[in-house]
Amino acid sequence: MTQTYQLFIDGQYCDPAGGEWFDTINPYTGETWAQIPRGGADDVDRAVKAAKRALENGPWATMSASARGKLMRRLGDLVAANAEWLAETEVRDNGKLLAEMAGQVRYHPEWWYYFGGLADKIEGSVIPVDKPDLLTYTTQEPVGVVAALTAWNSPLLFIAWKCAPAIAAGCTVVIKPSEYTSASTLEFMELTKQAGFPDGVFNVVTGFGAETGARLVEHPDVAKITFTGSDTTGRAVYQSAAKGLKRVSLELGGKSPNIVFDDADLDAAAAGVVSGIFAATGQTCIAGSRLLVQNSIRDRLVDKLVAMGRTAVIGNPMLPDVNIGPVTTPPQYKKIMDYIDVARAEGARCVLGGQRACGPDLDRGLFVEPTIFVDVTNDMRIAQEEVFGPVLSVIGFDDEADAVRIGNDVIYGLAAGVWTRDIGRAVRMTKALKAGMVWVNTYRAVSYMVPFGGIKSSGLGRESGLQAIDEFLETKSVWISTSDTPPANPFIQR
Ligand code: NAD
Repeated sequence: MTQTYQLFIDGQYCDPAGGEWFDTINPYTGETWAQIPRGGADDVDRAVKAAKRALENGPWATMSASARGKLMRRLGDLVAANAEWLAETEVRDNGKLLAEMAGQVRYHPEWWYYFGGLADKIEGSVIPVDKPDLLTYTTQEPVGVVAALTAWNSPLLFIAWKCAPAIAAGCTVVIKPSEYTSASTLEFMELTKQAGFPDGVFNVVTGFGAETGARLVEHPDVAKITFTGSDTTGRAVYQSAAKGLKRVSLELGGKSPNIVFDDADLDAAAAGVVSGIFAATGQTCIAGSRLLVQNSIRDRLVDKLVAMGRTAVIGNPMLPDVNIGPVTTPPQYKKIMDYIDVARAEGARCVLGGQRACGPDLDRGLFVEPTIFVDVTNDMRIAQEEVFGPVLSVIGFDDEADAVRIGNDVIYGLAAGVWTRDIGRAVRMTKALKAGMVWVNTYRAVSYMVPFGGIKSSGLGRESGLQAIDEFLETKSVWISTSDTPPANPFIQR
């Protein structure tokens, strides 16, 4: 018995205007478990108009920032109270480990608490302007209707990252989740109702990227786009948004180096490398998909990684002792297997995995063995292009300068890891690496307090942390004359 979902527009669940739905599949069982509405141009228009009405009229437009913050904290409490089933919905759709998704959803409320607390601390400034008869100050105003487009790997987390600062700023949102993992976003809307958000503040239009997503991006009443996805789609979104001169932030892909020096704690580094590439079945933007290892310790480290990879349990993501779940989508599975072929053809040597994982418990879903390639050079496609799967490319380096050169020699600049006991080297590396985030002797840590985002082809703007709220604000400068006499000469500029 499959579940049939509805769109969420103007505070109500409703059917799509076109009366069409599409299947959503459980990646572990390979079975359709729900029907997702196929939103069309009319639905997008209704959702954006509802968001615009809520922004300009009605209770949200006049609500105090403190009251906004209270609603956000209430929403955080509701997410905490409902974390278990939300996480299960997420796993049913994206196939990631319940252990990881439950942790993620339990952590999710922190974004509502943090940004809810910031809502009434958004301040302008009084400027001691150089014209004594003028009072001049700035105010910070919501940028407008925000379109939030999310990727399939962590839909609920992305709602928190995008919507918490947007809502704190006083914006209203229309969310377009990935067509592969829309259910949890639709379920989440019920909590926004229970929290008491006015109608139209949150809206969700589900559907396909090139159809529903593209319509949303080009809608004239959308002021700001916050996008998480591939750099290919990100570029298309950026081009479309440029026509309307819309504000854009982009969280895109990566090919992040995890760099291990010969003075590192090798056991800790091995665990960090494994967590960087095999956690979430490698389906994470911050995957440390290039292991840069100093040549003097290369074989020792690779042996440790192979041993750890061999013991990884592949299987049902709902089970607590499973380490690697299925790949989320059939196109993603094909892409991973194609890259494994490319790596072999390029001359890389596979020392672990490299096959579809099969077995009585695995045959319905699409599982890929944790895979390690050695003898990789940084000019190979397997070293340059994002695989978004459990495939590690091992590249040797001689010294620090070599590590920096190879580390930076990709189009991406999302994240990097450095493993060394030498504090001076650690600091030098954090400065030299061209990435939005650098971890030293750890990997894949995130927090609502710490900016997240990349440079180069990994995107524009930052999510989380104090500055995230600026992505959803416009500055207005106000000039008030305190003079009681008219200007001496109205024909010249003051
Ligand atoms: P994707 O680019 O295929 O899709 C992302 C979203 O954009 C989806 O909602 C999709 O429906 C929509 N979309 C697709 N075509 C569109 C179009 N023409 N116009 C408007 N919207 C469109 O990405 P994906 O496969 O869902 O996600 C994987 C990618 O996301 C990887 O590259 C990964 O690195 C990246 N990612 C980045 C971050 C980050 O924070 N930097 C986090 C997670 C994932």
